[in-house]
Amino acid sequence: MSDAIAGPGAEQTYFDHLAEGEFHIQHCTACHKAVFYPRAVCPHCGSDALEWRQASGDGVVYATSVVRQRPEKGGVYNVALIDLAEGARMMSRVEGIAPEKVTIGMAVRAEVDRSGDAPLVVFRPAGGGS
Ligand SMILES: [Zn+2]
Repeated sequence: MSDAIAGPGAEQTYFDHLAEGEFHIQHCTACHKAVFYPRAVCPHCGSDALEWRQASGDGVVYATSVVRQRPEKGGVYNVALIDLAEGARMMSRVEGIAPEKVTIGMAVRAEVDRSGDAPLVVFRPAGGGS
């Protein structure tokens, strides 16, 4: 299994990286755009020339909402759409700040949360905040 070519296992490759604590996203070498969620062909140009690159981790909140669940279901948490510096957009959540304090345009940094059953990328306010 090649790490450079995204096949049917693109999602698996993504999670393999996360399991090692690394956040990688795909880049299309044909049209030079970032691709997220992991997939076999570029959604911008249809090329399958996708390669994995480590994400910078820098992002900006594009949209944010507060989800209110009962405590046993996770309590109150944030769900956000994050525009990555690379140009792709991903759904995640912003932690380390009250869910309702997350604002559109806020600069955030990615980190890999491996505390749960499956690793996932979460974001924290960038700079100053922590
Ligand atoms: Zn492309």
